[in-house]
Amino acid sequence: KKEAQKKLVGEPSISADGQRVELAANIGTPNDMKGVLENGAEGIGLYRTEFLYMGRDSLPEEDEQFEAYRSVVEKMNGAPVVIRTLDIGGDKELPYLDLPEELNPFLGFRALRLCLENTEMFRTQLRALLRASNYGNLKIMFPMVATLEELRSAKALLQEEKSRLHEEGAAVGEAVEVGIMVEIPSTAVAATQFAKEVDFFSIGTNDLVQYTLAADRMSERVAHLYQPYHPAVLQLIKNVIDASHAEGKWTGMCGEMAGETTAIPLLLGLGLDEFSMSASSILPARSQLATLNVTVARELAERALTCGTADEVEKIVHEHV
Ligand code: PEP
Ligand code: MG
Repeated sequence: KKEAQKKLVGEPSISADGQRVELAANIGTPNDMKGVLENGAEGIGLYRTEFLYMGRDSLPEEDEQFEAYRSVVEKMNGAPVVIRTLDIGGDKELPYLDLPEELNPFLGFRALRLCLENTEMFRTQLRALLRASNYGNLKIMFPMVATLEELRSAKALLQEEKSRLHEEGAAVGEAVEVGIMVEIPSTAVAATQFAKEVDFFSIGTNDLVQYTLAADRMSERVAHLYQPYHPAVLQLIKNVIDASHAEGKWTGMCGEMAGETTAIPLLLGLGLDEFSMSASSILPARSQLATLNVTVARELAERALTCGTADEVEKIVHEHV
């Protein structure tokens, strides 16, 4: 089986009846690139940049960030690389930032919320990203967006840094796509409005599931309520995908769900364009995809949306494939 999958390294990701999707990889550092290339990823769907900021005692400077982003973009040789701006806070701490202790860190001062207040830190990262965009197909993604105002503020800062780089004579990529993670229910529900102001969505189910069911993703006690296959979660995913397509935009998924055997038929049926997962899941996913029919997957997804429970959803997926 492993041998058969190895043959799929340079192949496209395509269903039995010809639906093409993109299978991309999640990475944390440029050191992950070896696995990405060996496993035939068609892109990077999520580069979690927080690791650049962790395990040290001061912020990484612009040039250091630029080198890290550039090396990943260059290795992908023109294939898409979605780089997420800093998502710190919640469960991930940065001692040197002196963040406030909060009662509910997952509902608190993290990710874009922090970047929009700590604008000097944010601008440094945006400049590094813009400069690296000149070396390949780099896309910028903002995490934890809850409101349109946040998106607009982040885009305004990006635009300012772009103009500044132009004035300084620095080279910046031509048309850098700007997207957001959809991991907060408000954004999933209002996806139609967001779709007009982004180039793409990437659904972050790790957080979207915890916020939709109000079940802490770190808690053993409520793990039974952390249900990626809850019909409400599927409904949100459908809403996001449909909203993006209505505006001619695309939707990916970079939460763990995107690489799960049970989820792939459902997500294909819901119309997901890009699946981003750990590199080791890519070849198994490509091989599974080749056995699926998108017309059958669509019917499956429709039935799943009418189910009452996550258990029922999982049952019909297993009957079906
Ligand atoms: C997610 O929330 O699904 C996600 C991909 O981001 P992280 O796991 O880094 O919070
Ligand atoms: Mg997240």
